[in-house]
Amino acid sequence: MSGIVERIAQNVANVRETVARAAERSGRTVDDVRLVAVTKYVGLAETEALIAAGCCDLGESRPQELWRKAEQLSDRPVRWHMIGHLQRNKAARSIPLVDWLHSGDSLRLLEAANQAAARCDRLIDVLLEVNVSGDSTKHGFAADQLAGALAATPAWSHLRICGLMAMAGWGTTPEEARRDFIRLRELRDQLRDQAPAGVSLEHLSMGMSGDFVEAIEEGATLVRVGSALFEGIQA
Ligand SMILES: *Cc1c(COP(=O)(O)O)cnc(C)c1O
Repeated sequence: MSGIVERIAQNVANVRETVARAAERSGRTVDDVRLVAVTKYVGLAETEALIAAGCCDLGESRPQELWRKAEQLSDRPVRWHMIGHLQRNKAARSIPLVDWLHSGDSLRLLEAANQAAARCDRLIDVLLEVNVSGDSTKHGFAADQLAGALAATPAWSHLRICGLMAMAGWGTTPEEARRDFIRLRELRDQLRDQAPAGVSLEHLSMGMSGDFVEAIEEGATLVRVGSALFEGIQA
């Protein structure tokens, strides 16, 4: 197992270095970009290795995997980020485990998330997921639904709506992905003026292993990186 621990530590160091350089190119520092280490491909041992390597923001895309890992690692100093589609009937069990919900993709889900957060008296950071590529198989608000969603935010007492999240279209090159990232940033900039008081939209969650450099250059404040952290490891 020590081989895995060292390999993951090296991968984390490499990704952090790449994040730092991209942040500098965008006129920011490494502290302005949060690395969310996505654990969906791996088990508990590899997740523990990430924590040992200093990753304190972990992301899961499937509720059952979130429950398993977050419940077993509940004594560890980590923040969990739900990054994949969350069905409403899974909100009650998932929301108490997370600090962040990146995949706020419908008003009905956000209502359920708010109820779940209220029940455990927590304030959850939430991003509105946007289907920027217009892919019919993807979740998320269409660009023209965002203003309406923002108007509803004052009703959610236990959610802090703090930005937007998107995935680039399937099979896009990093430069094609960059266009989706620019579009998300521009949408955020337009919406800022219409946002209710107290809603800052300071965060942009965009970029994965293949395109996090482009995402940071275009303003990402959270990158969700999975496979690049597990290179050289048989998962
Ligand atoms: C799996 C996943 C990621 C990470 O993908 P990699 O390409 O492995 O880095 C990021 N975001 C979401 C929503 C995911 O499901």
